[in-house]
Amino acid sequence: MSQFAHVVVMGGGLAGMLAAEVLSRHVGRVTVVERDVLPDGPGHRRGVPQAHHAHLLWSNGAGLIDELLPGTTGRLIGAGARRIGFQGDQVTLTVRGWQHRFPPTQFAILCTRPLLDWIVRDQVLSSGRVDVRQGAEVAGLCGDRRRVTGVSVRGTDRQTTAIDADLVVDATGRASGLRHWLTGLDVAPPDKDVVDAGIGYATRLYAAPPGAAATFPAVNVCTKHTASEPAQFGVVYPVEDGRWIVTLSCTRGGALPDHEDDFESFARSRLRHPLVADLIGAGEPLTPMFQSRSGANRRLYPERHDGWPEGLVIVGDSLTAFNPVYGHGMSAAARCATALDGALASGGTTRQVQAAIGAAVDDPWILAASKDAGYPNCRVDATDPRLVGEQTEQQMRFADTIIERSLVAPGVCAVVTDVISLSAAQAELGSSRFLALMSRDTPRPHLPGPPLRPEELEIAGLPRYERVPTA
Ligand SMILES: Cc1cc2nc3c(=O)[nH]c(=O)nc-3n(C[C@H](O)[C@H](O)[C@H](O)COP(=O)(O)OP(=O)(O)OC[C@H]3O[C@@H](n4cnc5c(N)ncnc54)[C@H](O)[C@@H]3O)c2cc1C
Repeated sequence: MSQFAHVVVMGGGLAGMLAAEVLSRHVGRVTVVERDVLPDGPGHRRGVPQAHHAHLLWSNGAGLIDELLPGTTGRLIGAGARRIGFQGDQVTLTVRGWQHRFPPTQFAILCTRPLLDWIVRDQVLSSGRVDVRQGAEVAGLCGDRRRVTGVSVRGTDRQTTAIDADLVVDATGRASGLRHWLTGLDVAPPDKDVVDAGIGYATRLYAAPPGAAATFPAVNVCTKHTASEPAQFGVVYPVEDGRWIVTLSCTRGGALPDHEDDFESFARSRLRHPLVADLIGAGEPLTPMFQSRSGANRRLYPERHDGWPEGLVIVGDSLTAFNPVYGHGMSAAARCATALDGALASGGTTRQVQAAIGAAVDDPWILAASKDAGYPNCRVDATDPRLVGEQTEQQMRFADTIIERSLVAPGVCAVVTDVISLSAAQAELGSSRFLALMSRDTPRPHLPGPPLRPEELEIAGLPRYERVPTA
């Protein structure tokens, strides 16, 4: 494929920018076509509405982005992002109890999405190898059922023009118009799996008490959901400029606050522990409340499509979108770019390139989709045998046992953290080495309350929680 002269990337979000960076090393010219006018700095825009909500970039994604664009995480930290060590720098209440803060083995970068997107975009565009056509909406694909030869683009003047390309990459996200565009070429849509737990998000930004955003751990509290009760979660993440981003979320049947005035009382009454509500009370609200209902897991399988046209590749959320609670979408976008890089280097057909990208997103897909399939009222419309097979319930029980053990056993926790951060393959959890560790690793006693240190309680003005029961 490296003989290609011009590639068009549809969509200038994270997946599109990372793909463009990789492509610019292999082909003569890369043009990103983006509907929005991109801000010249960290700023919100219409095309990425999820940017108002808490985002966590796992170590796997951060490492891959640094490999593609050296110095990116350093710039993020320099701009105020926090590097949170897992599990040492996060206080977590899981469905099975409080997680010990074992010494970190992995990390995540926490900052606002506008900051992250801006720094990645600046890193990509500063090389001068990628052009961006802004304020330009992809209206369709050019070519025929055998080969895509470009895109048709509508400008702000509503005029439509064609841009020729040897390769077109779809990175237009969850709301991609690909299905419709394929119909225009008389190509049937690819197979699709959907696992939809009905995730809802409600988010506000707060000014943290002085010094707290730089030192207080990240917080993640979830409800004790059962087979019949929906789950509710609350996270407080430190982000740049001394702020906390607070997201409350739920699965289908759970509730979100109706109004920002109810945000704190909602967290107090719905979550299992007052920690999140107390932190909200300790901060100063800076924004209104934003809501999102874009949380379904959805995967396309173009690599299985017998009639897939040459010259068309899909990456990012357009290919595979995840329940955001797991924080896998941005790392998956980085995995798509890295897989694209490898596949371009070794040549091959579009379908072979797409198969390599599909393999790169399989782990985050199965981690998220198999967990969500266990939530009450989750809608599963899938053919993936790992989601609909007879062994599914047994696998879910095993996953619960692993989570329970990882709360108190440091060796088990390290492997589980490697897997959820996408730094180790999900298959590791089924290995004989891991099974032996499960029985060998000496557990610590269960924690009665949140593992917060006296200086942390003090900086956030929190009470000693030992006497507050965890429901
Ligand atoms: C509420 C929420 C919270 C999340 N939290 C996390 C998290 O904690 N960690 C994590 O890793 N991931 C998280 N994600 C996922 C993450 O946001 C995405 O995986 C990530 O943005 C990569 O997406 P993308 O670039 O594929 O698509 P997007 O970010 O959606 O970008 C698509 C781009 O395409 C453009 N576009 C769309 N249509 C057209 C068109 N017709 N023509 C031209 N341009 C077009 C859009 O303007 C946009 O710029 C979350 C998602 C949601 C919804």
